[in-house]
Amino acid sequence: MNATEARRRAREIIAESSALAVLTGAGVSAESGVPTFRGAGGLWRGRNAWELATPEAFRRDPAEVWEFYEARLSGLRRVAPNEGHRALAALEATRDRFWLLTQNVDGLHRDAGSRNVFELHGTIRVARCSDCALETATEAALRDWSPGGIPRCEACLAHLRPAVVWFGESLPAAALRAADEAIRSCDTFLVVGTSGLVQPAASFAFQARRRGARVVEVNPQETPITQVADVSLRGPSGAELPALLGKEERTLLTPRTADG
Ligand SMILES: [Zn+2]
Repeated sequence: MNATEARRRAREIIAESSALAVLTGAGVSAESGVPTFRGAGGLWRGRNAWELATPEAFRRDPAEVWEFYEARLSGLRRVAPNEGHRALAALEATRDRFWLLTQNVDGLHRDAGSRNVFELHGTIRVARCSDCALETATEAALRDWSPGGIPRCEACLAHLRPAVVWFGESLPAAALRAADEAIRSCDTFLVVGTSGLVQPAASFAFQARRRGARVVEVNPQETPITQVADVSLRGPSGAELPALLGKEERTLLTPRTADG
C-alpha cells in the first residue's frame, strides 16, 4: 500500500468507526517541543531523566526531584498543543464513544479540548501528598517554591510529589479500567506516536485486534504495532491526524492564524 492508498484506507476506517479508542505516546508531545525521556531531551544536569523518575530518587533527594519536575513544568509553559492534539479533540466532538488513552503526562490533550482523557502515567499538572494522597494543582503547590525546597501537603504537611507514575510503580487503577473498557468496546483502535515498547500500553492494540477492532497506526517509524495494524501512516501526527478527519470534524479545528 503506498502512502496515498494508506491515507485513503485510514480515512475510511475512521469515518466508519462509531466507537473509537486512541492511544498516544511521546511522539505526539515531541512534535510540540516537549522533551522526551529518550534522546537528547532526556538529559538534565548531565543525568539521565529516568534516574530521577523513581520512588528511590524521591526518597533519597526529594528537593532534587522537584527541581527536575519544576524545570519540566517551566518548559511546558512555552509549548502548546499541535494540530495532532487538536485533530483528536475534533474527532472526539463528533463521536458518541471515544476514549483517549495517553502515556503523556504533560496535559496537552486537555489543553487542546479533549475530554475523555485517561492518563496512564499520571499527570505533571497535579501534585499528590506522599502520605494522605490529597491532590493539588502543581502550579499552586509550587507558587512559593524555590530551588532546594519541597512543597508540602496543606492538610498533613507531608511532602507532595508529582502525580506521575514513576518507574516501578503501578498505573492508576481508573486509567487501567478505562483502557480495559476501551479495548473491549471499541471498533477501531488508533495508535499514535508511541514506540509500542512500554507495557502495558504496548499490548492494547494487540488485545483490541483480537477482539475484532481495526487498528490504525500513525508513526514515522515501523513499530511492533505495525504487524497488527490494518494500515500504518508513516508521518508526524501533526500532519497525518488532521488528514484523517471528515469534513464535519475539520470545521472543529481551531482556525489557523494568518501567519500560521
Ligand atoms: Zn497529606
